[in-house]
Amino acid sequence: MLSISKPVIDSHTKDSVEKVLSSGRLSQGKIVREFEEAFAAYIGTHYAITTSSGTAAIELALHAHGIGAGDEVITTPFSFISTSNAIKNCNAIPVFVDVASASLTIDPSKIEARITPKTKALLGVHLYGQTFDVRRILEICARNGIIMIEDACQAHGAEFFGGKAGSFGTGCFSFYPTKNMTTGEGGMITTSDEIIAQRCRSIANHGQGQPKQMSVPGHNFRMDEIRAAIGLAQLKRLDEFNQKRINNAHILNMAVHNIRGLVAPRQFPGRKHVYNQFTMQVKKEYKLTRDELKSHLENRDIGTAIYYPQPIHHQDYYKNLGYRDSFPVAEQAAKEVISLPVHPSLTPDDMKKIVKALRDA
Ligand SMILES: *Cc1c(COP(=O)(O)O)cnc(C)c1O
Repeated sequence: MLSISKPVIDSHTKDSVEKVLSSGRLSQGKIVREFEEAFAAYIGTHYAITTSSGTAAIELALHAHGIGAGDEVITTPFSFISTSNAIKNCNAIPVFVDVASASLTIDPSKIEARITPKTKALLGVHLYGQTFDVRRILEICARNGIIMIEDACQAHGAEFFGGKAGSFGTGCFSFYPTKNMTTGEGGMITTSDEIIAQRCRSIANHGQGQPKQMSVPGHNFRMDEIRAAIGLAQLKRLDEFNQKRINNAHILNMAVHNIRGLVAPRQFPGRKHVYNQFTMQVKKEYKLTRDELKSHLENRDIGTAIYYPQPIHHQDYYKNLGYRDSFPVAEQAAKEVISLPVHPSLTPDDMKKIVKALRDA
């Protein structure tokens, strides 16, 4: 079965892990610092702070901006549940805004109606490797005096008019094995704001060395040296991995292009999509249902995935909190999306196999 995702682990990565193990220094050493510096340089920010996961990165970013009990954070209901959970775990309130149908990222035209005096931040999600409309959202944030946090957990190396995802607001990355680069579990915050960087570093380490007036005692959200070594090796190849994803996506795009009822991911001018997922939408005009297409591909040993089968406000915890609003674009997308393998481990033969299976459907 062609898996929906698979990290590339090369011998250089194995060697650098071996080196850390032999050194005996497994945490809070120089490899973590090296990884942070290299990642900040790649994204184009002054600072980067490693974390134990992408979820920890989002939570930390919210804490560092002083967001806590009773504060409202605007976000999208069409994301991995981690995005909203991080808000809840800071005792803040996720306020959902529907996504735009072309990009499936947060719809700028619907944001201002949801801003109240309690709104402190907007947490946008660069979904599947596609950036949200950074320019319009930064304008809205500036006009309303709220801060912008970027969930860039699926967007390492993605760009919006030349700037990298994670360089516009406070950036949050995950290095889970399905992402564009991995450390196993792991994450990173990117920022050019020195105070925010200091607070993140401190809160991630039990509040040690904390600047005054911190709102929380602190956590252990640290990354260890072994993961940092994997991350450094992965970062060196990130552009190459992304280029392979883009090439694979191009092949899939061409295959889907002329099939009635299948909608391929959109490419917007000025944005670089890095295809953490190749996610298409199966419309009712298509000859098969989404489930039928899924089984057809699986019968041919092609793994697929549905990201996400339910928008966040329909999932149990949030349903029980009493979210009653409807977000029709997100709800429809949840019924239509299907992701195909696009990762850098796929061979030209694998790609042919996927294209043929799509044609034969
Ligand atoms: C993966 C992911 C996260 C969480 O990252 P973890 O490292 O699994 O905690 C958050 N948001 C989005 C959009 C993600 O894809």
